[in-house]
Amino acid sequence: MKSFEEASRIIEEEFNKITLDIEPVKLENALHRTLAEDVVADVDLPPFDNSAMDGIAVKFNEQIKEWNVIGEIPAGKYQEYELDEHSAVKIMTGSRLPGFCDTVIPVEDIDVNNSTAVLKENVRYVKGMNIRKQASDLKKGEVSISKNTYLLPRHLATAASCGKDNLLVYKPLTFAVLATGDELIPVNEVPVGDKIRISNTYSLLASVEEINMKAVNLGIVKDDKNILLEKIDNALKSDIDVLITTGGVSVGEFDFVKDVFEGLGVDVKFWKAFIKPGKPIVFGVHEKDKKKKLVFGLPGNPVSSLVNFEIFVHDNINRLYNQPLRERVKAVLMNDLKKKDNKRHFMRGILSVNDKGEYEVSSKFSQSSGNLVEMSRANCLIVIEEGIHNPVKGTVVKCIKM
Ligand code: AMP
Ligand code: MG
Repeated sequence: MKSFEEASRIIEEEFNKITLDIEPVKLENALHRTLAEDVVADVDLPPFDNSAMDGIAVKFNEQIKEWNVIGEIPAGKYQEYELDEHSAVKIMTGSRLPGFCDTVIPVEDIDVNNSTAVLKENVRYVKGMNIRKQASDLKKGEVSISKNTYLLPRHLATAASCGKDNLLVYKPLTFAVLATGDELIPVNEVPVGDKIRISNTYSLLASVEEINMKAVNLGIVKDDKNILLEKIDNALKSDIDVLITTGGVSVGEFDFVKDVFEGLGVDVKFWKAFIKPGKPIVFGVHEKDKKKKLVFGLPGNPVSSLVNFEIFVHDNINRLYNQPLRERVKAVLMNDLKKKDNKRHFMRGILSVNDKGEYEVSSKFSQSSGNLVEMSRANCLIVIEEGIHNPVKGTVVKCIKM
């Protein structure tokens, strides 16, 4: 039996050994991927001096307050004009600035009569105003987005300006989810007798997708050692990176999963963690032909399997891909909690912000590891550490937002 800290460290170590593959994606498909290259500007940004406003372009001279407007330059339609200090051209936002000019006076600051523009009284008129200088954002050859950036909409615009219609990103890991249990039936069947609908698979596949990984559903397998062995063997021979099974890892007579893992050469790193819920977890590594797979045997209880995923998988992947981690906050407990043992507990709670802007958390839930409806109403896990017993209302506790 491992403590939470030990179990976490073992799992994190194995995740950290993974070398991520790289693949190209089209720019429009790059959201929420992690960049595997530096993006470099292939041109100056902006590529030419241009106007930041609609107005007139002039050569600055403090003495001159009136200009003869001799033409206009719409954006994308540059043309040369013979200009002197007493002449100006109308210019639009983004239009290229004529080489002779160094200043743009906004349209709001001038009065135009026929083709004469006159500076209004008391307006701010300084040399160089309203010009976006060539390369003022970035010089050609400079890095605009660094390798390992988790890509958000704002990064994609920059990549586009740098001429990248494809980006190299890290390939997602493929997670396969296999449910075990004679009692399980598909969602579209009505349970009769002692059957229950399979639910874990759906929380886990969704959890995999939530962290931008690829999820594969391996369905349901009966509590039959031979069938289980064949199914897990096939999974271990397939092209997945992580195998997650649910159920069959406790000490019941039909809990074969750990034995099957070991029989198939999985190097079991630990079985059982001193936590609640999720204690029976098995974790191991399967290696064949230099290809490693991480193998998680999670308990069947719907709350346990999801909490195990949250605490042992979620943020390890986020760290690996530089994605945002689950937010952790301190909150004032709004009711007493029952905890008699020395395990680390992850209790389901409802987190909110009070009038003073402080976090409060309440948890009137039964904390049964079978109650998935209560779990669906919670929005955080309240972490109660090993040495703490029966924390009372008013205690400050650590919460992981979900
Ligand atoms: P086990 O870990 O196999 O002993 O299962 C513990 C509890 O979780 C039992 O009540 C099972 O019926 C239930 N259970 C197991 N697998 C699933 C599943 N995929 N979906 C929903 N409940 C499950
Ligand atoms: Mg079972």
